Amino acid sequence: MKRVWAGTTLGLIVLLNGVFGGLLSAERRADVQAMADVASLATSHSAEHMDEVMDIADRTMSVVSEFMRISVRINDPETADIHRLLVHQHRITPGLRGLFVVSPDGHLAYDSRSPHPASLDLTDHDFVQHHLTGGADILFIGKPVVSRISGEWMVPVSRRVEDRFGRFVGIVTAAVDPDIFFAMLKASPLPEGMQAAIVSPAGFLFGCLPSNDCLGSSARDWPLFLHQAQNPAAIVTTTRGSILPGIVGPGAYRASPRYGIIAAANIETGEAIAGWLSRLPVFFVLDLVLCGGGAALSVILYRQVTRRRRAMQELAEANASLEKRVAERTTALQRSEARLTAFVTTARDAMLVVDGFGRIQFLNPAATALFGYADADMNGRSIDLLVPSRLNDHWDPEGFANSGSGQAGAVRELVARHRSGAEFPVELTLGVSHSEDGSIYVGVLRDIRERKLQEERLWQLANLDPLTGLLNRRAFMERGTVLLEEEWRRGGTASILMIDADHFKSINDGFGHQAGDDVLRVLAGILGTAVRGGDLIGRLGGEEFAIVLPGADGANADRIAERLLADVRQARVPVPGGLLTVTVSIGISVAGRRSTLDQLLATADRALYAAKTAGRDRRAVAA
Ligand code: GH3
Ligand code: MG
Ligand code: MG
Repeated sequence: MKRVWAGTTLGLIVLLNGVFGGLLSAERRADVQAMADVASLATSHSAEHMDEVMDIADRTMSVVSEFMRISVRINDPETADIHRLLVHQHRITPGLRGLFVVSPDGHLAYDSRSPHPASLDLTDHDFVQHHLTGGADILFIGKPVVSRISGEWMVPVSRRVEDRFGRFVGIVTAAVDPDIFFAMLKASPLPEGMQAAIVSPAGFLFGCLPSNDCLGSSARDWPLFLHQAQNPAAIVTTTRGSILPGIVGPGAYRASPRYGIIAAANIETGEAIAGWLSRLPVFFVLDLVLCGGGAALSVILYRQVTRRRRAMQELAEANASLEKRVAERTTALQRSEARLTAFVTTARDAMLVVDGFGRIQFLNPAATALFGYADADMNGRSIDLLVPSRLNDHWDPEGFANSGSGQAGAVRELVARHRSGAEFPVELTLGVSHSEDGSIYVGVLRDIRERKLQEERLWQLANLDPLTGLLNRRAFMERGTVLLEEEWRRGGTASILMIDADHFKSINDGFGHQAGDDVLRVLAGILGTAVRGGDLIGRLGGEEFAIVLPGADGANADRIAERLLADVRQARVPVPGGLLTVTVSIGISVAGRRSTLDQLLATADRALYAAKTAGRDRRAVAA
């Protein structure tokens, strides 16, 4: 990663530098090309201008030449006339140092600057030589020379003059001031450092820039001239040629179309690109800043990317670990839920989940079985449907919802109702779970019908006499004691009846034990119907019964005993061989304050004994 990043950064920097290099190179080329274009333009202008200068000189000379031709025709022209013409033409022609005529023998004949010129031999001049030796009749542009008369530089431009018979009569010559070439060069808008030259068709220099000291010297060995000689009509522009001696760089040269005067300009490449070179440090600084900045940016980016990647990796790891934990938790939850579901569905107790409004949210199979409703019928219904409030004194129909902390987890017995309407006892254990979404209550309802029956049977076994269903002695004593205590607290009275079957042994003996039992059951029934609800009746043992009559004084007790005696007397007990009549004797004990049940029973027993003794089938009240 690091190596790839560094490689990419390096590649980008190299690319950037390549682009920079390309731009720099293009700019350099543009600068060089601009120089070449400037040179081309300047040389074109100069060359055209050369032709104009030469044209002017040629026209001036033509006037003189024509005059001389006519004068020769009318014989012996006046010397003074030619001189005047020369002076006039010199004056009206700009850029001339003089205008003169050379005689056919090569001597100076007429001069615009002197009416009587010295007889100078000019045969050593190239233009004189050209015309004397029968060279072509052209405007001859000669080698610049120093005037022997004025000592000034001049460029001789000459034409041969012939009379009407074609005889050579002289050479008319315009001495062109070379300063106009130099001035022309200086007037050209040449850039600094560019050198320029004007060269005659014969290869002599008419003017140079920056200094004019080249005037008159030969340019025949210059690269320019060598080129031009090979290609006379050339208009040449170069970006890295050598036109002027000792210079290599952009430049141009142009031969004037009519007279072949060459204008040339050339600049050293180094000078041409001086501006470009001066801008180079800026480019380098810019490049350095961009490369350095790019590298720094790359490092920062690399760090950020690395950091982000590390963070992402850590996040991914954390995520993976979280997912693993979630998966583990989910599995554990599923297992726990499966366990719970199995537990709930297989539980024999009915389980209900009720929301904060007392609405049933869930019930297990045991609950649907217990109440006889289908699962769907109960969902969302009120808990009052199953545990009606009217059947339960202290039962709040929204008991689940309103269960206080005291109620949660408590066990209570309630009366529930089956779909058929049958009511039955249940034991409720309540659990509560509070959350932000509200509270939910979980009730476990256990059917306690069987247990209740069992309890009832146990109670009967412990408290009732199995033969008659009356209280046994122990239960009678217990309850009787409580009853008396209450009576004493109220300040009331109480009486005790002690009842014993007469001659019961003989019944057993005479009719069998079963008949004895039947008699006992009949007696118990009579006693049970004879007493009031608040009275307590028990079988003390054998064929002996006792009754506690709370609130009954002696008279009351006596009346009750009398009625009992009558009821027993009238009863007929079926025995093998007929119906049996039985009688009982009753001892009555009327309670004094704070007497115990044992004392009262003992007293009643004594009265009973008295009744027996008195003949049975009667009652006796203890004294
Ligand atoms: P009295 O008139 O003096 O009371 O004479 P009695 O025969 O009734 O009195 P006794 O005490 O001599 O006899 C009571 C008999 O009652 C004796 C016993 O066998 C019988 N007995 C006691 N308990 C039962 C019982 O549960 N069933 C039957 N069949 N007989 C019982
Ligand atoms: Mg007895
Ligand atoms: Mg008896």
